[in-house]
Amino acid sequence: MSNKYIYVFDVDGTITPPRTPMTGEMVDVLNKIVHDNVCAIVTGSDILKVKQQIPDNLLKKFDYVYCCSGNVLYENGNLVYSNKLVPNIRVKTFLDDAVQSTPYGTLTGNHIEVRPGMINFSTVGRNATTEQRRAYSEWDARFQERKRIVRDLRYRFSDLDARIGGQISIDIFKIGNDKGQAIIDLKKRHKDSIIYFFGDNMGVDGNDRPAVDQLSGLDKAFDVDSTNECLCYLKTMFGI
Ligand SMILES: [Mg+2]
Repeated sequence: MSNKYIYVFDVDGTITPPRTPMTGEMVDVLNKIVHDNVCAIVTGSDILKVKQQIPDNLLKKFDYVYCCSGNVLYENGNLVYSNKLVPNIRVKTFLDDAVQSTPYGTLTGNHIEVRPGMINFSTVGRNATTEQRRAYSEWDARFQERKRIVRDLRYRFSDLDARIGGQISIDIFKIGNDKGQAIIDLKKRHKDSIIYFFGDNMGVDGNDRPAVDQLSGLDKAFDVDSTNECLCYLKTMFGI
C-alpha cells in the first residue's frame, strides 16, 4: 500500500449527487482506488446519511471517515472520537428568527439539526424534496441568503464559524471545528504524506474551504462542479 498519497473526498456534490446514493460508475472507480491507496471521506453529514449514500462494502474500505465536518472520526469502521456542541438559546433564537424572516416562500420543516460538534441549519428545511432543494439552491445563488446568514452569524457570535454546505444548508461550529480539523488530523497520522482533496464547495464561505486552507507543500485541491467532473479527474489520475 502506498502511503505517500492520501486521497480525501467530500461526499455531497463530489462523489455522490446531493443527498442521493452514489452511482454504480463511481462505486466501481472508487473501489479500484481504495484498494491500493490511503483514502478518507470528509463530510458535513453524520454517519447515518453517509451510509444511505455509499454502499457498506465500499465505505468500509476507506481508512478514515470524518463525519459532521471532522467532529466525528471512524477509523476502519471504529469510532475514534466525537466532539460535542450544545447550541445556546441565543444561537437557537437567531436561527429561529432566520426561518421566520426568510423571504423564500417554501418552508418544509426540520430547519435545525444538531449533530456531534456542529449544527446544520436550513431556512427551506431538511425535509425538502430533491426538486425543492434544487429550486432553493437556484434561488439562493441569485439572492445569496445563505451568504448573508453566514456573515451575520459570524459577526454576532465571535466563538462560532459558519459555512455554506450542500444545496440548502449552513454548517455551524466552534471556530476551528470545521473540515480543516480532518486535514490536520490526517497530517499528524501520516507525516510526509501528500494530500489530494476533492470537494465542490471551496469558495470563500464554502464548507470545503477550511480543508483547502490546511493544505500545503505538494498537497492539491481539486475543485469539482459535479460528480462527473470528479470522475474525470479520478479516471485520468488512475488510468481507469
Ligand atoms: Mg459538498
